[in-house]
Amino acid sequence: MEKRYDVAVIGGGPGGYTAALYCARAGLSVAVAEKLTAGGQAAATDRVDNYPGFDQGIEGLELGERMQRGAERFGAETVYDEVTAADLTGDPKRLTLSGGGVLLARAVVLATGALPRPLGLPGEEELRARGVSYCATCDGMFYKGKTVAVCGGGNSAVEEALFLSRLCAKVTLIHRRDSLRAAPVCADELRRAGVDILWSTRIAGLLGDGRLTGLALERTDTGARSELPCDGLFVAIGRVPDTGLFRDQVALDPEGYVAADETTRTSLPGVFAVGDVRAKPLRQVVTAAADGAVASHFAQEYLRSL
Ligand SMILES: Cc1cc2nc3c(=O)[nH]c(=O)nc-3n(C[C@H](O)[C@H](O)[C@H](O)COP(=O)(O)OP(=O)(O)OC[C@H]3O[C@@H](n4cnc5c(N)ncnc54)[C@H](O)[C@@H]3O)c2cc1C
Repeated sequence: MEKRYDVAVIGGGPGGYTAALYCARAGLSVAVAEKLTAGGQAAATDRVDNYPGFDQGIEGLELGERMQRGAERFGAETVYDEVTAADLTGDPKRLTLSGGGVLLARAVVLATGALPRPLGLPGEEELRARGVSYCATCDGMFYKGKTVAVCGGGNSAVEEALFLSRLCAKVTLIHRRDSLRAAPVCADELRRAGVDILWSTRIAGLLGDGRLTGLALERTDTGARSELPCDGLFVAIGRVPDTGLFRDQVALDPEGYVAADETTRTSLPGVFAVGDVRAKPLRQVVTAAADGAVASHFAQEYLRSL
């Protein structure tokens, strides 16, 4: 079944729902296609303390739901489905959904965000959800009382390790460098929470057949090898932009992000990129939301020009 809108948004994270709110409030018909949860990555975080207006912080999931309800209040529609193909060159632009439906729109907002960066080790894909996870908030409960490791040294890795320390019997943070990229205060916080830190260590292999049982480790300074038995591994080594759907249609920057400046305009007329998928210096809820508002402004200008 085909349905027509003025604007179709791919992705219901903070960027997507803010674009939808502004477009719907301007009287445009808007659909937001979301394959998982409103709020995107923000919904997977325990608490967001730095989105203005919530002086006590807010649970990520609740923030996502509120953003969705805010857009729907003005008539935006959420289509819970995955966009599996996109033809962004024609008019109207055509988005095919996994359920067989089609969204037609004169303007499209790309708000697909980012995905966890994998370690790239043999067996990683097969062990996904069988001991290897990329989100402690989502999967931590499965490891209650168990032994887990977290790989990474940035704020996300620290946040994951602290979250897991409240659930698991033992948490080990594995970092390939000898200091954290996260704020220095984080190392003390980890120690207070009983998290062991293995510095200058990389994960050389995943152990287990059909289910993770441990990690093969290698010191990055001495090359010494060891093994760490564990029930779960949480990978937190950064994110990659989720551009698979349209990377052959819009220009990307050298790092693979959609090349769009502060106007959010991409190389294709009528196609706008917001949030974490766009080339930008800071990827946060507030900057994704700001992009959404800007995209709506230029989408309206584009639609008036047709
Ligand atoms: C663990 C963690 C903690 C964080 N903590 C904070 C914090 O405290 N404060 C802060 O400001 N920021 C935080 N961030 C960053 C923040 O969550 C992101 O910057 C923000 O969510 C980006 O919003 P977005 O709309 O660009 O994309 P996303 O939030 O990534 O949303 C993209 C959405 O698109 C959907 N999607 C993708 N492809 C398709 C498709 N083909 N069809 C349909 N739907 C699709 C996805 O399911 C997803 O819901 C955190 C991120 C993580 C991972």
